[in-house]
Amino acid sequence: MNHDHFLVPPGKTIQLKDYDPDYTGEFENKEQAESKLREDVLRLASYQDVLYAQNTYSLLIIFQAMDASGKDSTIKHVMSGVDPQGCQVFSFKAPSAEELDHDYLWRSTKSLPERGRIGIFNRSYYEEVLVVRVHPQILNSQQLPPEAKTENIWQRRFEEINNFERFLTRNGIVVLKFFLNVSKDKQRSRFLKRINTPEKNWKFSLNDVKERSFWNDYMTAYEDTFNHTSTAEAPWYIIPADNKWFMRTAVADVIISKLASLNLSYPTVSEEHQQDLLKAKAILEQE
Ligand code: ATP
Ligand code: MG
Repeated sequence: MNHDHFLVPPGKTIQLKDYDPDYTGEFENKEQAESKLREDVLRLASYQDVLYAQNTYSLLIIFQAMDASGKDSTIKHVMSGVDPQGCQVFSFKAPSAEELDHDYLWRSTKSLPERGRIGIFNRSYYEEVLVVRVHPQILNSQQLPPEAKTENIWQRRFEEINNFERFLTRNGIVVLKFFLNVSKDKQRSRFLKRINTPEKNWKFSLNDVKERSFWNDYMTAYEDTFNHTSTAEAPWYIIPADNKWFMRTAVADVIISKLASLNLSYPTVSEEHQQDLLKAKAILEQE
């Protein structure tokens, strides 16, 4: 799959309107995409096995999106083949009182994947330059010192986030960032479906419609975020999200390419361990 359609090129300025939420790449239909995803789910499982055995790198996958973009179902489908012991998912909601008593990266730092694991952030510290920027009154509850609450707070936060991610990637935590790009029309029809289907009612809250009224502000905040935080170490991928089948296979494809680029390998067995294996074999065979 050609990732140029999704990637936010580091150092370039993009416009969100140039990324089509309805794009479906080379796939002619849903079945083709689903069959590719099935293969990729198996591939992901075998990469994850080596990642775990090698115990050197970890993979942090960040998902950001508007409501009803399909974050949850993408996580469910793409990770469906991965050993649950090698994978952790954290969903970040509005911060608790305890979290507000710390810096804004604290809760994320605590949740970083251990070496050998895949960690998924369902929303992330990027909310600090998205929802907080759209509703700057949230800053009033953050206990910030005056020097952190200046005019250029968003610019500063972009720098802080870039520095944080550089630290992570230099230390073996590979960072992938996905924006699931759903159109405003598609969000409307998915909301209506949630309202009209009893089994989906629980997913809907009136607040979702209120946030929708800030759509343009969110898009401006997202665009600015991509233009400041898509770096060579941790680039952003804007994934077309109006067709869930395409979104899932595109996300899986990017993850697999990244894992492939790490040239992972199983740990080599030392001479001593080889000898132990032979001894154990002899003992077992004599039984
Ligand atoms: P779903 O709606 O699919 O269950 P969700 O991720 O939208 O999943 P919600 O509980 O609906 O979960 O929303 C979480 C809310 O928390 C979002 O509106 C998000 O913007 C908000 N949030 C996340 N992080 C922060 C933050 N650091 N500061 C303020 N609000 C935040
Ligand atoms: Mg929600």
